[in-house]
Amino acid sequence: MIFPGEWLGVLGGGQLGRMFCMAAQSLGYRVCVLDPAADSPAGAVADRQILAGYTDAGALSELAGLCKAVTTEFESVPADSLERLAADCATSPSADAAAIAQDRRREKRFAQDCGLSVAPYQVISEAADLAAVDASLLPGVIKSTRLGYDGKGQVRVDRPDGVRRAWESLGGVPCVLEKWLRIEREVSVLVCRGRDGRSVTFAVAENEHRGGILAATIVPARVDASLALQARAAATTMAERLDYVGVLCVEFFVLPDGELLVNEMAPRPHNSGHYTIDACVTSQFDQQARILAELPLGETRQLAPAVMLNLLGDLWFEAGRLRPPPLGAAAAIAGACPHLYGKLEARPGRKMGHVTVLGTSLADALARAGEVSAVLGLEPVR
Ligand code: ADP
Ligand code: MG
Repeated sequence: MIFPGEWLGVLGGGQLGRMFCMAAQSLGYRVCVLDPAADSPAGAVADRQILAGYTDAGALSELAGLCKAVTTEFESVPADSLERLAADCATSPSADAAAIAQDRRREKRFAQDCGLSVAPYQVISEAADLAAVDASLLPGVIKSTRLGYDGKGQVRVDRPDGVRRAWESLGGVPCVLEKWLRIEREVSVLVCRGRDGRSVTFAVAENEHRGGILAATIVPARVDASLALQARAAATTMAERLDYVGVLCVEFFVLPDGELLVNEMAPRPHNSGHYTIDACVTSQFDQQARILAELPLGETRQLAPAVMLNLLGDLWFEAGRLRPPPLGAAAAIAGACPHLYGKLEARPGRKMGHVTVLGTSLADALARAGEVSAVLGLEPVR
């Protein structure tokens, strides 16, 4: 194991990096963040920040020189940078795993190779592919294969004559056309896998997205036990097939007939796992730090039913005027655990923080979350 007092590194300075820093520090490690922004959420709590781009060779070798192990916190981390780091220090996840997760085409093929189902889709790599669009995929959604997140890089398309325009509106980059499905529920599973090949999963989380962005997570998910087992097994299979080291999140669609489809995976802790900080024995960020430091994985047991509400920058704008939402009133509600990421500038759609609401039962957590939503002016959870 890596001893407390040693340095762990993280590529990326966002809120996931911030919560990783806090977890690693509480285990006694020092943390260095590499990020080009001087006011990043993770940089504000790290013991040290290297202020440079993610592909800066000098900065990467400085990070690898200082740290015993390095991880990442954002999905589009350059695979080349991970490879460079891996030459000099323990780096997880691997460049290979990140490269698959970054490319929807490879990601879907990988899920299928694992024997799992995905939404019906077709690849549109170039203009010539538009001639052979499968009409059964419409109405559908075109997604750029790379760099999409929070619903960005996606457009809905209803009719065959709209496909070209939709593809061009995404810049004519390689895309997948996916059938738009009637989804009963969206769920996700976090799997944590150590260098020794041992893995654990957290309880299945149920996610409510609004406008392509996660709005709320409810745990445990309101699905039957066999579906929950199936989802946890699927995520574990994917982590094993990737020989994954670190925290991996797999997002699924549940169809009305109970079929489970893999939507996508993220090679890092995930927004749908933020509830673990307050609701579980070990949080997803504790697990990330433990894996990096080669400590044993922690218990994933959930101590209380939880509802996590995302706080987007939209809440900071009222009638066009910038003002923070009434967090004090939300904090006063029993079971509410507010977290803010220290972002100085609110923008619509920007993730500013979250509130995890714990209950004595799921119904209680949902009722309290309803109170928090009402106080903050959030749409109620479904
Ligand atoms: P991102 O990388 O932006 O999270 P996703 O592919 O997960 O992209 O899409 C964001 C959200 O949009 C999903 O969580 C889901 O709510 C909705 N969505 C995406 N694809 C489909 C689809 N084929 N059918 C129905 N809803 C979809
Ligand atoms: Mg998603």
